[in-house]
Amino acid sequence: MRPVYLDNNATTHVDVDVLQAMLPFFTDQFGNASSMHDIGTAAGVVMKAARRQLQALIGAKFDHEIIFTSGGTESDNTAILSGLDVMPDRTEIVTSAVEHPAVLSLCAHLEKTRGVKVHRIPVDHHGRLNLNAYGKTLTPRVAIVSIMWANNETGTIFPVAKLAEMAKRVGALFHTDAVQAVGRLPMDLKATAIDMLSLSSHKLHGPKGIGALYVRRGVPFSSLIKGGHQERDRRAGTENTPGIVGLGKAAELALGYMDDETTRVKLLRDRLEEGLLERIPEAFVTGDPLARLPNTANIAFDSIDGEAIQSLLNRDGIACSSGSACTSGFLERSHVLEAMSIRRARGAVRFSFSRYNCEEDVDRVFEVLPGIVEKLRERFPKSSKRAKCR
Ligand SMILES: *Cc1c(COP(=O)(O)O)cnc(C)c1O
Repeated sequence: MRPVYLDNNATTHVDVDVLQAMLPFFTDQFGNASSMHDIGTAAGVVMKAARRQLQALIGAKFDHEIIFTSGGTESDNTAILSGLDVMPDRTEIVTSAVEHPAVLSLCAHLEKTRGVKVHRIPVDHHGRLNLNAYGKTLTPRVAIVSIMWANNETGTIFPVAKLAEMAKRVGALFHTDAVQAVGRLPMDLKATAIDMLSLSSHKLHGPKGIGALYVRRGVPFSSLIKGGHQERDRRAGTENTPGIVGLGKAAELALGYMDDETTRVKLLRDRLEEGLLERIPEAFVTGDPLARLPNTANIAFDSIDGEAIQSLLNRDGIACSSGSACTSGFLERSHVLEAMSIRRARGAVRFSFSRYNCEEDVDRVFEVLPGIVEKLRERFPKSSKRAKCR
């Protein structure tokens, strides 16, 4: 049986057109854009085209506002460290309790090693940011705010345009990790006060190991990686030309598929959620019921671990994610569900769709998941012991 892939917030299938676009840059078109000969300058030309494709997808005003990086993690690290560098009189960071580890681990490290004060804004049990708490932490001591556009576990969308305007009022820089939002939500950055934005190619049907950081023109910037003059001195190192071409193509395709994402893909997601709630007692959908990514369903089940469900679904050829992490032999609940104070459920299962999914995938989940939940509930009647990792 064809495997059912419902883990598109972890990574996505590379589009065949993306691969086709990349292939020549591994063979005859191998040039280094810094070289002075034709083989080199050809690489410069295609990278400019890729920058334009990305500019169109996110609505940037200028193509040179886009810096290519190795992915979402590097973009997040670059943005936050740059913010601290260019604002030497300010020593505070504002972020949320539900960011990706790319932001949260860096913030914890800065707190420990540089004495930076980090404010982690709490969320309510729908995963919505506490705007009151956010407003109160904004003072002229804040160098940079980093708040994600959409959460990778629940799909909850944050009002980043508004958050950016609030940050501007105290002169802080505003960065958003938009890795899950780019290609799934229409964007027009030039109409917002957002200073920096991270994105990653492999979350939008492009190759892994390439991403970008948008830096609005005029925003002071300090590079993370020092070396040659690539990317206008903002990111040293010979450019990943095949990756950049692939990301450009993926961006162009994402723009074309945006309607599909917000209609057909969303309907598949909605059908999965409604169908599962009908078929399984004591299950509920987590995340903001109104402002949520069209492709993400995070479903919690009373009294059983998300990890156990995920592993049995895997045996039936269905790939999804449980959000929990295995730390020192014990299962740690997701920091996102923890921040949402969802105590009822011991865990949740995330199903994330893409344009490669179809009705049949949803039907397969309906066939197997109710039986799995029933079996697990019989085997483990409401115990509160921490589950061991498999
Ligand atoms: C996947 C992801 C990242 C990391 O991106 P990489 O390109 O894998 O480094 C960062 N933030 C969010 C929200 C993500 O989902």
